Amino acid sequence: MTHRVYNFYPGPATLPLPALKKAQEELLDFQGTGMSILEISHRSKEYDKVHHEAMDLVRELMRLSDDYKVLWLQGGASTQFYQVPLNLQVQGKAMEYVNTGGWSTKAIKEAKLFGDVRVVASSEEEKFSYVPQNVEFSDDIAYAHITSNNTLYGTEWHYIPKVPDDVPLVVDMSSDIMDKVLDYSKFAVIYAGAQKNLGPAGVTLLIVREDLLDRVPENTPTMQKWSTHAAKDSLFNTPPVFSIYMAKLSLEYLKEIGGVPAMEKINREKAKILYDVIDHSDGFYKGHARKDSRSLMNVTFTLATEELELKCTEEGAKRGLVGLKGHRSVGGMRASIYNAMTLDGVKKLAEFLKEFQEQNQ
Ligand SMILES: *Cc1c(COP(=O)(O)O)cnc(C)c1O
Repeated sequence: MTHRVYNFYPGPATLPLPALKKAQEELLDFQGTGMSILEISHRSKEYDKVHHEAMDLVRELMRLSDDYKVLWLQGGASTQFYQVPLNLQVQGKAMEYVNTGGWSTKAIKEAKLFGDVRVVASSEEEKFSYVPQNVEFSDDIAYAHITSNNTLYGTEWHYIPKVPDDVPLVVDMSSDIMDKVLDYSKFAVIYAGAQKNLGPAGVTLLIVREDLLDRVPENTPTMQKWSTHAAKDSLFNTPPVFSIYMAKLSLEYLKEIGGVPAMEKINREKAKILYDVIDHSDGFYKGHARKDSRSLMNVTFTLATEELELKCTEEGAKRGLVGLKGHRSVGGMRASIYNAMTLDGVKKLAEFLKEFQEQNQ
């Protein structure tokens, strides 16, 4: 049998094994074409089907209405940090952001290139250990922006902030898209790099309410306009075919296990198992995130010393529990338990952490 470990890397991250197996099976001869999906034209009817089925799965799993366009873009979520203000700016209107971590900070920096940016709430002074509650945005702004899950710090929004009527709410959902049931219609724009919770690196999902597509200034380069890609269903130029194909396979798997509601149940169970270990460790493991802001996807914690953290990471790896080192900006440890991480993997990790505590306290 193939050797597989439990992969807790933050992204690129573990993918559902059934999706990988399907890709392996189909690699040399994609559905009787005698070619790999990597080798066929993006204008072929075989690829076209994959492309649109992947979009339809997003629509179905997120219960999106026809008011939205679903797009496959390139350049990662980081490209959206500037494409959002570029496509949504309105002369004379401010853009409002909430700063909840490293990725929000980067998004704010890019928006400032385009105009007046106001940070209406921030948890920076508390090392981004929480998500500000009761956040409010002003009337008459171009848009409001939040980062729904803070991958580095392990915090997640557990409410959708209210925005005044006519203010589009934009969200970077790179690391928690489809992790739980949400009323996605509260958002005007949703973007997510695929490599955390959707599929492999190389494709970015953008969901945008159609009425916003004509905001973009006319003298914007063609490829930078969302409207270009919307008009051609993301087939204006060659899309990242393999990444979209893999995303489709992992979304098919999500659908098969019961969709987002079933996934949410598993995710809550997974997160509870790990947070319980932290909470019952008498301070041996310290959670970074405040309890009301804990992420379902990235569980961040520290140990008494860096040496102990390193030892824990290394011993975990020896047991086939890989990728537990925290992000360099936060330190400590992090277990990324995205949709594709199994309950079994999380149980193994919890057992290991308990044993490690017994042997090292
Ligand atoms: C990883 C991540 C990004 C950056 O994604 P790229 O696709 O590498 O540009 C942005 N936002 C969040 C929340 C992330 O987790």
